[in-house]
Amino acid sequence: MKLTRTSGDAGTRAIPKPGEKSVLLLVHLQNDFCRNGAVPVVEGDQVIPVANAWIRFFAGRGYGVVATRDWHPPNHCSFQEQGGPWPPHCVQGSLGSQLHPDLKIPPGTLIVSCATNPKKEADSGFDGTSLEDRLEDMEADTVYVIGFATDYCVKRTVLDACRLGFRVVVLQDGVRGLDVQPGDAQRAVQAMQAAGATVARSADLGIHV
Ligand SMILES: [Zn+2]
Repeated sequence: MKLTRTSGDAGTRAIPKPGEKSVLLLVHLQNDFCRNGAVPVVEGDQVIPVANAWIRFFAGRGYGVVATRDWHPPNHCSFQEQGGPWPPHCVQGSLGSQLHPDLKIPPGTLIVSCATNPKKEADSGFDGTSLEDRLEDMEADTVYVIGFATDYCVKRTVLDACRLGFRVVVLQDGVRGLDVQPGDAQRAVQAMQAAGATVARSADLGIHV
């Protein structure tokens, strides 16, 4: 873990501009979190064009793109029949586990599989995965985050990224929450900001969808 990744501008209000050490992190943009999925977020399908605009921007400049996916065995502990809170979702190899069909992921994009251990829930893309190592391989210092769900895997992933010393920009129009309790997603945004993440809209960075 390097604590020197963040440069000396922490605390300023400027939104970091993407550069060679930036990585676009696409969190769990899978069918089961979209319309007709097992655990749909609010307006999830609206995120896909936002993600594609950012993918075009990053891939067109040769900057890194990484996708995570929720990738459960059929007997995962988070499923209701195992005593967990959720209906079965993102079961490895199922239609629901696939990335949204309209998502334009560049060929060769690294895909990190999460929560693959049946006995362990893992809401963070960093939990039990190689994501930190892969970001280090890419010499990333800043991650731009898009995905599902704001109040679960996006939040946990962003909090870990902040803790690990990455600069983090959460794209507000590129995330959606489950809002199991009304206001969960808004509270998650506040928690990410409190941890040091910058919350911005795509248009603030010149990305128009
Ligand atoms: Zn899951």
